[in-house]
Amino acid sequence: MENCIFCKILKGEIPSEKVYEDEKVYAFKDINPEAPVHVLIIPKKHISSANELTEENKEVIGDVYYAAQKIAKELGIADKGYRIINNCGEDGGQTVFHIHFHLMGGKKLNWPPC
Ligand code: 5GP
Ligand code: ZN
Repeated sequence: MENCIFCKILKGEIPSEKVYEDEKVYAFKDINPEAPVHVLIIPKKHISSANELTEENKEVIGDVYYAAQKIAKELGIADKGYRIINNCGEDGGQTVFHIHFHLMGGKKLNWPPC
């Protein structure tokens, strides 16, 4: 989508540090990491937020979670645990409107996040 920074990352117009890629999903290091492991996982097809999920596109969320599990194993954080976060909308703290999932770990994370 025009003017979407994550679509630009997918097209290679903005550089990113790739962590994982398959047919449906792309993952890269967050530019401003808040944990030792902080990866963003996105569907290749533009979906603005969780509010834009539909019967037709909802299965990609399963692909994202499956990718997260593979990345967590690859990066060695699967056994100790990790968190997958999706911020939706203004109150949720979403700043980039291409749906994305933060995979965070490598330290004991605080809870709750509010
Ligand atoms: P949100 O607040 O929307 O849930 O998360 C957006 C995330 O995208 C933030 O953690 C921010 O650091 C990250 N981010 C924003 N722009 C870029 C970029 O150009 N490259 C990368 N790698 N991460 C970005
Ligand atoms: Zn996009």
